[in-house]
Amino acid sequence: MPLYDTIIIGSGPAGLTAAIYATRANLKTLVVAGQVAGGQLMLTTEVENYPGFPNGVLGPELMELWRKQAERFKADFVDDNVTKVDFKTRPFKVWTTDQEYEGRSIIITTGANAKYLGVPSEERLKGKGVSACAVCDGFFFKGLDVVVVGGGDTAMEESLYLAKLCKTVTVVHRRSEFRASKIMQERLLKTPNVKVIWDSEVLEVLGATKVEGVRVRNVKTGATSDLKAQGLFLAIGHKPATEVFQGQLKLEKDYIVLDPHYGFATATSVEGVFAAGDVHDFRYRQAVTAAGFGCMAALDVEEWLQGHE
Ligand code: NAP
Repeated sequence: MPLYDTIIIGSGPAGLTAAIYATRANLKTLVVAGQVAGGQLMLTTEVENYPGFPNGVLGPELMELWRKQAERFKADFVDDNVTKVDFKTRPFKVWTTDQEYEGRSIIITTGANAKYLGVPSEERLKGKGVSACAVCDGFFFKGLDVVVVGGGDTAMEESLYLAKLCKTVTVVHRRSEFRASKIMQERLLKTPNVKVIWDSEVLEVLGATKVEGVRVRNVKTGATSDLKAQGLFLAIGHKPATEVFQGQLKLEKDYIVLDPHYGFATATSVEGVFAAGDVHDFRYRQAVTAAGFGCMAALDVEEWLQGHE
C-alpha cells in the first residue's frame, strides 16, 4: 500500500477542490469519496448561485464535472466510507470497509447534513417546495408564502433572507421562546411580513405534486390547523459527519474546531490534519465557500508537508 502525501476524506465541493489543488501540486492524493459520493449537491436540483454557470446547473451534474476534473490530475478514488481513523501517530491511518490506507497528512471534508422533521410527505416533496437552504432555493419562492421551522440562529437568518423575497414568512416554533441570539430575534420580530406561530409543530406537509401547505398542531392545546404555503424551509439544525473522528481531534457540538496557527487557517487540533467545508463551517454552508476552504486546506497541506519531510 503506497504512502499518500494526503488523504482527503469526503468528495463534496471542499474535498474535490482540495483534490484538484493537491494533485496539481504533485502530491500523491487519495480521495475516500464515501459510498454516496458527491455531498449535498447530489440531493439538489437546479443550482443557480454557483459562479460560472450563467444558466444554472443541476447539482449532480456539477459534482460529476467536478469529480472528472479531480480525476484528470490523477487523484486515486475509493468509493467507500471511512470506518475508523488513527490520528494519534504519523503516518495517519484511515480504514474503509476492507482496506487500510496511510497518509502523511489528512484533509477532512465530510460535510454536514441538514436535519429533517421526518413527517409525512416531507421526503416526497423535497425539491418540490421542501428545502433546508434559503440561500439555495429562496429565489424560487419570490412573491409566495413560505413556512420556516425552527427557533435557532439559522431559522432567524433563513427567515430574514426569505422575508426579502417572499410575500409572507411564517415561522413555526415548538416552544414559546426562541433559542436564537437576542439581536437576531429582534430583527426577525420587527420584520413586517414575518409572523410567528409559537408552541407548535408541523405534523404533515400538504400537497400532491408540490407543497401547498402544512398541517400544524399547537403542542399546548392539541388544536390542529392547516396553513397555506408554497414552500417549507427546515432550519432545525445540521448534523456534521464526524462520528468516526470522535476522540481523535477537537470537536464542538460535533463540528470540527479549527486551530489556525502559523498561517494555516484550516489546521485542526491535530498537527497534520486539516478540515474544510461544512464539517467545520456552520456559518456559510455554501458550495462556493466549501470549495474555497478546500483550496485553502490543500495549500496548507502542501506548505505543511514541506516543513515535515
Ligand atoms: P440550533 O441552535 O440547534 O437550533 C435548532 C432549532 O430547531 C431550535 O430552536 C430547536 O428547538 C429546533 N428544533 C430542533 N429539532 C426540532 C424538531 N425535531 N422539530 C421542531 N423544531 C426542532 O441550530 P442552528 O440554528 O442551525 O444553529 C447551530 C449553531 O450555529 C448554533 O450554535 C448557532 O448559534 C450557530 N449559528 C450562528 C449563526 C451566526 O452567528 N450568524 C448563524 C447560524 C447558526 P428548541 O429551541 O426547542 O430546541
